Amino acid sequence: MHSTNKKIIVIGGGIGGSATALALHRKGFEPVVYERVKELKEVGAGIALWANATHVLKNLDLLEEAKKVGVITTNYQFNSQNGKELINISVDSFELPVIGIHRHDLHKLLWRKLPEKQLILGETFERFSCSENKVCAHFASSITAEGDALIGADGLRSKVRTELFGEQLPIYRNFTTWRGLTSHIPNTYLSGYIREFLGRGKGFGFMMLGKGCMYWYAAALAPENQPDDPIGRKKELENMFQDWFYSIPELITATEETDIIKTNLYDRVPTLPWSKQNITLLGDAAHPTLPTLGQGACMALEDALIVTKCLLEHPEPTVAFQQYESQRFSRTKLIVEQSLRSGRMGQLAHPIAVKLRETLMKLMKPAIIDSFKSLHAYRA
Ligand SMILES: Cc1cc2nc3c(=O)[nH]c(=O)nc-3n(C[C@H](O)[C@H](O)[C@H](O)COP(=O)(O)OP(=O)(O)OC[C@H]3O[C@@H](n4cnc5c(N)ncnc54)[C@H](O)[C@@H]3O)c2cc1C
Repeated sequence: MHSTNKKIIVIGGGIGGSATALALHRKGFEPVVYERVKELKEVGAGIALWANATHVLKNLDLLEEAKKVGVITTNYQFNSQNGKELINISVDSFELPVIGIHRHDLHKLLWRKLPEKQLILGETFERFSCSENKVCAHFASSITAEGDALIGADGLRSKVRTELFGEQLPIYRNFTTWRGLTSHIPNTYLSGYIREFLGRGKGFGFMMLGKGCMYWYAAALAPENQPDDPIGRKKELENMFQDWFYSIPELITATEETDIIKTNLYDRVPTLPWSKQNITLLGDAAHPTLPTLGQGACMALEDALIVTKCLLEHPEPTVAFQQYESQRFSRTKLIVEQSLRSGRMGQLAHPIAVKLRETLMKLMKPAIIDSFKSLHAYRA
């Protein structure tokens, strides 16, 4: 059998799963995505796609459309909590743009290009069984699907991962985030800028997405699963950031309470294997990371291209998946570890530590710029 006639079952139709299915489909494989949600819902948040990710969009012929629905980002600026600039990094020095995009728009771009029959919604994966060279996925609805290989792209709490390697809970990193969308554009918004503000155990950032949509995110030290304050999520945030740079409380106030999403932040210590025989993991299922470098979805996109290349080069999925994980491990490990270090810097809460961080950031400006550049220079 020619390798590209293979049927590949993809569990999870998030950014990683849908990009993988699209990349495989374009190369003549027969991927089928099984996604547990019944419809593509609006996730009220944005995402930054750095040059390493827009390279993948270009490969999938989606870059021009992504540029139309998103906003080109040129600078990543870090400030103190009262708005004093610490570092301003130009991120537009590559041959590829950086794009701020609504998650829903990115998702739609990926899903729309897949033939309808290759995306099956409302199916929750439960377990797999193997016979000879085939793998069979079993779903909660009692349907089954047989394929030549299976890719678990089912996110942070991947069921495929648990079935492969047993239950290992992700690690809560003492950080909670809130994300919001509003049409209010503060007068301090600088065109093309991601503006981030670092304070004592807290941080805040905002950037523009397409269609006049302003996206903001906040992070703070918090115990796991801490419930909302009885005063409400929005009021709690207004109080937390009341004495910060004036555009920050302004943005929170301009956002509807129901448009604020709260998420606990987790990762895993990077380990191999990700694969067993003709089954592998991809995206957050393989290497969940803190969002401090904004690279989780970008890495999932990179995985999509590499796993497709490996399946093209090696007719046996078992061999292809070994190649895939060995090509991807060091890159993803570096990002997961760097994101964690960045997160720890952001968690500093003592005023002296915060002052020291500000001084260090200024002193280490060239090293910080180089480190961002080398992350974004990777081409899958
Ligand atoms: C606050 C925050 C900000 C972030 N900002 C950025 C950013 O700016 N840039 C960036 O690159 N990344 C960012 N990320 C990370 C990014 O969101 C993730 O890394 C990315 O979504 C991972 O994609 P994925 O497809 O692997 O997993 P997911 O997006 O989690 O998708 C998994 C899919 O699998 C489905 N699923 C789960 N279980 C099953 C099952 N049993 N059966 C069938 N389907 C199932 C789910 O419904 C889901 O659709 C951020 C994350 C957070 C929390």
